[in-house]
Amino acid sequence: MMPFYDLGEGQKIPLSIRYNKRAKSIKMALSASRSLRITSPHTISEQEIFSLLSEQHHWIKRALNRMPEAVPAVAFPDTVEFLGIGQTWSVHYQPNLLISHIKLRIDSAHRQLTLSGQTQDEHLVQDALIKFCKHVAKEVLTTKTRELAEKMQISVNKISVRNQRARWGSCSSKANISLNCKLLFLSPQMMNYVIIHELCHTHHLNHSAKFWALVARFEPNYRALDRALNQYHTSIPSWCQF
Ligand SMILES: [Zn+2]
Repeated sequence: MMPFYDLGEGQKIPLSIRYNKRAKSIKMALSASRSLRITSPHTISEQEIFSLLSEQHHWIKRALNRMPEAVPAVAFPDTVEFLGIGQTWSVHYQPNLLISHIKLRIDSAHRQLTLSGQTQDEHLVQDALIKFCKHVAKEVLTTKTRELAEKMQISVNKISVRNQRARWGSCSSKANISLNCKLLFLSPQMMNYVIIHELCHTHHLNHSAKFWALVARFEPNYRALDRALNQYHTSIPSWCQF
């Protein structure tokens, strides 16, 4: 069963099918968040539901066009591309209404991510995808930071990964470094620069001339990279931007 209804022209909306013993006929409803919900009696097969959907195709399209755009539908990705580490993961959705949440299966060998459970719930899907990003970031960014720290002969304490809204990273007086999982979506140079920047803060907890001189030793192009970081990043998918 697909968690999407295909509107054609590359447009898809989330679709959920609920079987209800007491339902006498198939009911179709569009939610304010532009997802399609089907309630059906047990006696009706999935195939029958899909043929009804194709009969109602024009009705669905017209109803969607009339809906206000106030709550834009979240685009559920088929792939997640981590530019910073050159990895592309495929994303699979397995709707299962018997699971009350979303289960994540991360297959690193095949770079495959499977979400099963309430995959029609865009908030749960978003949470699951961010959880996945944090998982990858924790592994990759921790290793990268330790490697860079060794090269730079800087000692670092704890490294944590979060999904901060407004900062790429931070460094505490105890040399604990916190990095944003969204770094994975930036270019490798930008990702490295943020890590170098935070590592240099273990020596200078400010943006003094001494701090920048230290940064320049490891990344001569720091000015341009710092400027680029503060601009809007189209490489970060919408589901990760909150
Ligand atoms: Zn700084």
